[in-house]
Amino acid sequence: MHTIVTEGRPTALGGPAVFPEGLPLVRPALPDRDDLLRSFARILDSGMLTNGPTVRAFEERVAAYLRVDHVVAVASCTSGLMLVLQAMGVSGRRVVLPSFTFSATAHAVHWAGGHPDFAEIDASHLTLDCADTGSRAHGAAAIVGTHVYGTPCDVEGLEAVSARTDAPILYDAAHALGSRHRGEPIGRFGTAEVFSLSPTKVTVAAEGGLVATNDEGLAEACRQGRDYGHPGDYDCRFPGLNARMSELHAAIGMASLADLDQRVQHRGLLVRRFRAGLEGLPGLSFPETPADATSTYKDLTIRVSSEEFGLSRDGLARALAIEGIDTRRYFDPPVHRQQAYRHGRLGSTLPVTDRVAGEVLTLPLWSHMDASMMERLALVVARIHRHSAQLRVALEA
Ligand SMILES: *Cc1c(COP(=O)(O)O)cnc(C)c1O
Repeated sequence: MHTIVTEGRPTALGGPAVFPEGLPLVRPALPDRDDLLRSFARILDSGMLTNGPTVRAFEERVAAYLRVDHVVAVASCTSGLMLVLQAMGVSGRRVVLPSFTFSATAHAVHWAGGHPDFAEIDASHLTLDCADTGSRAHGAAAIVGTHVYGTPCDVEGLEAVSARTDAPILYDAAHALGSRHRGEPIGRFGTAEVFSLSPTKVTVAAEGGLVATNDEGLAEACRQGRDYGHPGDYDCRFPGLNARMSELHAAIGMASLADLDQRVQHRGLLVRRFRAGLEGLPGLSFPETPADATSTYKDLTIRVSSEEFGLSRDGLARALAIEGIDTRRYFDPPVHRQQAYRHGRLGSTLPVTDRVAGEVLTLPLWSHMDASMMERLALVVARIHRHSAQLRVALEA
């Protein structure tokens, strides 16, 4: 039995709000305003709003941090994935990817002309299952793995699948700038890895993405591809996009990189604090991070098993909403169940994905949250569990 002090009642049963101001899911960590305004002034004075030195400096800074040969800054992670998949030649071919990911992973496959073939996830880490991926990878144009919530995929396992099947691996690393596998930065694995810098991520550029690769040809294809498909001579080699990152966005991204490792470390501490506060609580579990990995914890996601917790995942979400605590169901519905994909011709049966998707609930976490807030959040969850029987009646009435 857990021994957490859970005196007091949930707000849904008339108790006082633990977070009277509410608790949003994320608050982006914004860089120092004066530094940023100085960069903006410099960019505006230069008259170069795009294709300028700030983007190049940002790319170089990230390449040095990741220790990769090439980083190509793009307008978003989605467009970066599209450009890499196009360069990989997936058009008209099958691409293996998880269904338990953000929809944009699959959208990028679609826009590059590929056919999504959804694979299972590993039930403990919630990243691609190597056995199921392996069974689908023969004849596929590519495998796309998502480092879900910042948890690195089983990169060795997927490497072996790739070697056996000749399907190259691309990582959707939207959540994982700052994650590590055995001390090595995520960004160094597979054929390429693509990061997102949109506002809910740990490092932000307002909007933006980064393609990291050691493949020079691929980097060049992405550079041309983000600029309509030409290398500067207006003679397009292929139909590209406008997927450039502006100088202003690069300035935000650059500033946002500053204390990335400290932020990641603090997020790890917050997650450990939260878990410690709920140790042994029945019906509540956490996706695991491999022992030798560092996660950005882009999301703090729990799994709720209704029977033992006493309240369904959605019931817990409702009780938390009454407390003013914001939650999301990352990733439910999983992509293969979404209207855009559920009639796909490769119709997958994914029991693990379906079970996990029905249990996940993402709770508030941001980089400058303090540990006492996290302890109070754990207290609220424990209190809701303790009153689950009454809450079930109250919420369903
Ligand atoms: C946010 C996200 C994306 C999309 O990133 P954008 O920069 O908004 O295009 C792609 N994949 C995953 C897993 C994400 O969470």
